[in-house]
Amino acid sequence: MSVSLSCHRCETRYDDDTRVRCDCGEPLWIDAETTSFAWDDCGNRSGMWRYEAALPIDRPDGVARAAGGTPLVRSPGLDDVAGGRVFIKDEGENPTGSYKDRGSAVAVPRTIAAGDDVVGTVSYGNMAISTAAHATSLDRECIVFVPEDISPVRLELIAQYEPTVVRVGGEYGALYEDALELSDRLPITALVSDDPARISGYKTALFEICESFAPETPDVIALPASSGGFASGVWLGIRELERAGLIDEPPRLCLVQTAASDPITRAFEDGSTDPTPMSSDETGETIARSIGNPDPPSGARALSAVRDTDGAVVSVTDDEIRAAQRRFAVEGGFCVEPASATTLAGVSRLADRGEISAAESIVLVPTGTGFKELGTGETDVATETVHRTDLADRLESLLPPRGE
Ligand SMILES: *Cc1c(COP(=O)(O)O)cnc(C)c1O
Ligand SMILES: [Zn+2]
Repeated sequence: MSVSLSCHRCETRYDDDTRVRCDCGEPLWIDAETTSFAWDDCGNRSGMWRYEAALPIDRPDGVARAAGGTPLVRSPGLDDVAGGRVFIKDEGENPTGSYKDRGSAVAVPRTIAAGDDVVGTVSYGNMAISTAAHATSLDRECIVFVPEDISPVRLELIAQYEPTVVRVGGEYGALYEDALELSDRLPITALVSDDPARISGYKTALFEICESFAPETPDVIALPASSGGFASGVWLGIRELERAGLIDEPPRLCLVQTAASDPITRAFEDGSTDPTPMSSDETGETIARSIGNPDPPSGARALSAVRDTDGAVVSVTDDEIRAAQRRFAVEGGFCVEPASATTLAGVSRLADRGEISAAESIVLVPTGTGFKELGTGETDVATETVHRTDLADRLESLLPPRGE
């Protein structure tokens, strides 16, 4: 595939494939020629590499080959809460437990092919874990910038891949721009949330969903949104499939934010095209640690995605997130992280407002596994200890009678 970049807002094209931003300030994405793209022509390669023809690199070696190809399953136990027919696209089944692997699988090998730069990232969550894993699997050094007060659990998850970890003091939020500048001055390529190659990788999640539904299209797709990178990739996928004639009516994109930091929701409600960055006085703590970017670099693009598909943006509170996370487990059997549980809480709000109807198909995308968040030693489950000699008698009273 020949690579050119373009801007979603002003449609300017650039042939310089190292650019990441348009002159108008918006992040760029990579255009794929999909007019002749057809499901039957996709090969039988594993995971996201089934769509290699629409990606800007050839299938690489390493852990990238394990990215994507996640299951889409019907989960009727969640229908009542969600207000429609629920399908789960479980992105927690990627090699490092989140959809970020789809982006790293394209962006890391592409950086490596371009030269001998160290791969860098600014994250202390799934982005860092994924980037470090993909870099080391191709034998390339990775440098991860984390906040100085990172929790030991998070540090351990990142450190298992042995990247160079730099704790940074000062305002961590400002590091996003600093990282792009570091890339200009030092032999580091920083793969931040809106890197164009990452966005290309993310579109494969949408391709997989639509191929599973073909020739139908799901009515609603619900994703959590923070930087807006994943939403951008999903929208890119929708646009490419529309151009290829593979979908007519696009699914409505529903983005969900944490009420603790929700600049995209605010802009959606105001009718603005650009989110207004939120100051630290306006934002709060949330259990949904993977989301809550107060100044989302792909925020304007995410808003366009929602408006273009006639979707919505909603915010949910930590209490709603906790309840939804529990439903995912108890009703669906899925262990999802709080950021991902927002999807269920969000569609439930939309259904209450009458924006989703019972006959509609809803794809919830739990973006990350909940297993990384466990291990705190806390649980609410009531247990009792029974001596082994009394086990049979005691179980008789605990279990439901046979035949029920
Ligand atoms: C990164 C992340 C998000 C947010 O995605 P953006 O692309 O920043 O909008 C949501 N959920 C999980 C689990 C993540 O790791
Ligand atoms: Zn532009």
